[in-house]
Amino acid sequence: MSLPSAAELREDTIAGRRSTTETVRQAIVRAHEVHAGRDGLNIFAWSDDDDARAHAVAASDALRDGNGGGLAGVPVAIKDNIATTTLPTTCGSRILEGYVSPYEATVVTKLRESGAIPFGKTNMDEFAMGSSTEHSAYGPTRNPIAPDRVPGGSSGGSAAAVAAGIVRVALGSETGGSVRQPAAFCGVVGVKATYGRVSRYGLVAFASSLDHVGVFGATVDDAARGLRVVAGHDPRDSTSVDSPVPDFHRAGERPLAGLVIGRPLEYFPESLDGRIRALCDAALQRMRGLGAEVRDVSLPNTALAIPVYYIVAPAEASANLSRFDGVRYGRRVVGDGLRGMYEATRSGGFGAEVTRRILLGTYVLSAGYYDAYYRKAQRVRTLIADDFTRVFNSGVDVLFTPTTPTTAFPIGAISDPFEMYMSDIFTATANLAGVPAMSQPIGRLDGLPVGGQFMARHFDEMTMFRAAYGLERSLGAEAQA
Ligand code: GLN
Repeated sequence: MSLPSAAELREDTIAGRRSTTETVRQAIVRAHEVHAGRDGLNIFAWSDDDDARAHAVAASDALRDGNGGGLAGVPVAIKDNIATTTLPTTCGSRILEGYVSPYEATVVTKLRESGAIPFGKTNMDEFAMGSSTEHSAYGPTRNPIAPDRVPGGSSGGSAAAVAAGIVRVALGSETGGSVRQPAAFCGVVGVKATYGRVSRYGLVAFASSLDHVGVFGATVDDAARGLRVVAGHDPRDSTSVDSPVPDFHRAGERPLAGLVIGRPLEYFPESLDGRIRALCDAALQRMRGLGAEVRDVSLPNTALAIPVYYIVAPAEASANLSRFDGVRYGRRVVGDGLRGMYEATRSGGFGAEVTRRILLGTYVLSAGYYDAYYRKAQRVRTLIADDFTRVFNSGVDVLFTPTTPTTAFPIGAISDPFEMYMSDIFTATANLAGVPAMSQPIGRLDGLPVGGQFMARHFDEMTMFRAAYGLERSLGAEAQA
């Protein structure tokens, strides 16, 4: 039996009809049923039934003290790059093996304060670099819908935890699409808010100007409620914005009539799989039927997003990851002298993809190349952001696009890093521009989920959710058919 929705869990828990320990027991049973462990779907990098039970007791104590927040009694799985103090935080990496953070991420504190129950640390591509959760030091995660396929990445474990019915809400992180892309591959909802809306304090940095904490939900409402709880100003994150957080879960109360939806032609190229295009156009047709207006628009610099992303992200990563040196965190490998220790620790601790990014980032930031690559990439990044401003200023409220160019691919099928990078072709733009974006299921191809993406103006998550609720309601069971 799967868990009731976040709203139902909350209501029943607060009314005293359901205990948090019973809820957690069900989640544990479900995790065993679907073989979430290492030799099965491998959804969790770290999990501990006793830890989950202890959090359930703490949540019920908080409730008794009158703290019945937005996720009261709701178990939430947490990506392994978000700091927790009772389970390890290892970013799917060998280099952080055994590391338990002395402090907690703000988003986790907010979860606990709302009465939510932290439930395990989910598997991920090492340091969130990847699109398949195959680059984890702890082995690949399998897609619960089709276990021979990847769940997407880098937050593949969190997407899989929701798709497998273990939890209704999970936290992930996004730098270029790592919540939306796995949400699309696993047939769940994935959202990242405006840059600055959710605190990054305690999220292990990959590329700070692009990083976001994101939220997965089994439905739009689960995701909206999850985001409502973790969003908000945090003085401990200097990029966090002090702006009131609306009730995202009420966005569905407004109908779609009058909404202007942009269909950007660059996200529907000739080369796009005709069946994915057809599912997107069918979704747009439904929204038209609900009274929305659909306009063709253009974001001309879209094709530059992947090249720009793969300069900016590795550049920032090479700086951020310098702290993993065998002295300050995690594992140390003894070598010949201090330099030998650094070399042995870093070569033994980082996997191939992370090493590739550090080399690339160091190269584009080096003296002779800084202007040619990094500075130029930053300029083009501005052009990409300007594209969004222009369309939104022209009266378009939300954009609708496919989330990914393909459905989930078989484990081991993509060995060329560049081909893997193309998974984010429709998602990286929102991170570069900092606009809110989300993916939700819009149908299936050969049994595999397809995601549709909404993007909106900075801090206008409400309009994005309004569109998402409307589409979800209209699609009904067809979203998963
Ligand atoms: N797949 C992209 C990458 O490998 C995005 C990852 C992410 O969003 N964290 O960098």
